Amino acid sequence: MQGENVPAPYELELTGKDGKPIMIEVSGRLISYKGRPADLATVRDIRERKKLEEQRLRLEKLAAIGEMATMVGHDLRNPLQSIANAAYYLNNELPHLSSSAPMPNKVMEMISLINESVNYADGIIRDLRDFSATRQPMLEKADINAIVKAAIRQLEVPENVGIVIELGRLPEIGVDIDMMKRVFMNLARNGIQAIENGGILKVSTKKAKRFVEINFGDTGTGISKENMEKLFTPFFTTKAKGMGMGLAVCKRFVDAHGGSIDVESKEGKGSTFTVRLHVLR
Ligand code: ADP
Repeated sequence: MQGENVPAPYELELTGKDGKPIMIEVSGRLISYKGRPADLATVRDIRERKKLEEQRLRLEKLAAIGEMATMVGHDLRNPLQSIANAAYYLNNELPHLSSSAPMPNKVMEMISLINESVNYADGIIRDLRDFSATRQPMLEKADINAIVKAAIRQLEVPENVGIVIELGRLPEIGVDIDMMKRVFMNLARNGIQAIENGGILKVSTKKAKRFVEINFGDTGTGISKENMEKLFTPFFTTKAKGMGMGLAVCKRFVDAHGGSIDVESKEGKGSTFTVRLHVLR
């Protein structure tokens, strides 16, 4: 009203009665009110808009990570395969080279270290690729119990961890067998890794109403309240050698089946992850 320029709409943070911040947008303009010049200011609560913007940014970031991961993963696969082939060759040939003295243990130990490292790196690439892949599940009628058993067979179980398996009677349902096996392996492996000083991982299946339920309950460390919200976020990990993609991949695969994955946990007591898949699809 003093003849200065009206500012463009701007954002401001206010504090609500409960002490929480409220983002608002203020826009003002000059109007004529009852024949006299006046200010018209609009204050808009933009919390929802901010949330959606953040969500969009996060999705864009994930898509970019995915693209890069696919590229890098693709380029790393070939050299990794060469390293694995070379280690395989050495493993076969070295013992025959020195007929007089046996090969020092250290040499064979190093070869198996190469193999382990290749497998580890390969796992990281696979996780990244799985997460970024837009592959739709290839559904076929399958026996979930058989997939659970196959997944557990492939895991290394330390001596101080007991695995209890209780399989209920289930109808066959349409799933992508490879995807589900990965989900079950990831959940079971996490359960085993959460057990530090010996304990039990109980894997059970049952039909509950219109769902098939698969439970992975461990007597491990449990999960803090704070971490509960971050579990399924890509790259969230509390493990020294963790990648943080396991649960993100699980969620992506289960979502692609129209199913759900839930977790209950008590710190110091253990955690249970539950996958639910629709019987009729
Ligand atoms: P990673 O195993 O590479 O850390 P995940 O996405 O599989 O990646 O898991 C993310 C994090 O969630 C883990 O680092 C761990 O802190 C937590 N977590 C997952 N499963 C369990 C479990 N059964 N018990 C306790 N913590 C778990």
